[in-house]
Formats: sequence, C-alpha cells, structure tokens
Amino acid sequence: MPTDPTKARYYRKQIPLFTLVDKMKLWPSRRGILHGVKTFEPRGPYAIIETHCGRRMVVHDSKHSRAARWLRNKWFAEACPQCRIPEWKLQKYAATHFKRGYGSHLRGE
Ligand SMILES: [Zn+2]
Repeated sequence: MPTDPTKARYYRKQIPLFTLVDKMKLWPSRRGILHGVKTFEPRGPYAIIETHCGRRMVVHDSKHSRAARWLRNKWFAEACPQCRIPEWKLQKYAATHFKRGYGSHLRGE
C-alpha cells in the first residue's frame, strides 16, 4: 500500500542535506524553482544531481546551505513544469516537519 502523502512525517532539524535530498528527491534551484531529482550520486563532500528536466549540478553537503534551509522551510516559488513533480510528492513535502532533536530518541522506527 502506498504511504498516505498527507500523513505528517518528521525529520531531525540537523539532518544532512544529502540525506534530505536522497529521501525527498526534490531540489530547489537558486531561483526558487523546485525540481524533481532523477539521480543523486554522492561523491564524498560533493554530490551530482540530475533533475527530471535534464539539469545536472554539483552540490556540496552542508546543513547550513541555502538549499538545506529552503528544503527545511519548504520555500519555493514554483514547481518546475518540466520535472512534472507529482501532486502527492508536493503534498508529502508540505506534510514534512523538521524538529530540533527529533530522531535522537527514536526506537525501532
Ligand atoms: Zn526541473
């Protein structure tokens, strides 16, 4: 059964950017366009992201980067029309919350 996209989910606030991108498969561009991530290849301190609309970019892993902040705050101006991010994914994104310290006391989940 598919997971309910509107179900609230929580991530630690200090989650590394790469973990976040790998789980969400979303990437906010500098201009505020939210892209769908087709492939994500971590290469140590860098990762290569390829979006569904064919863009390739090299990104640095940082919890404090613009992209990490944008993903956590769910800021974006618009979803990329070429990436065709499905509605359920945007709903899932909207239902994701970040909490300081969350995850440090998780057991078996
Ligand atoms: Zn795109």
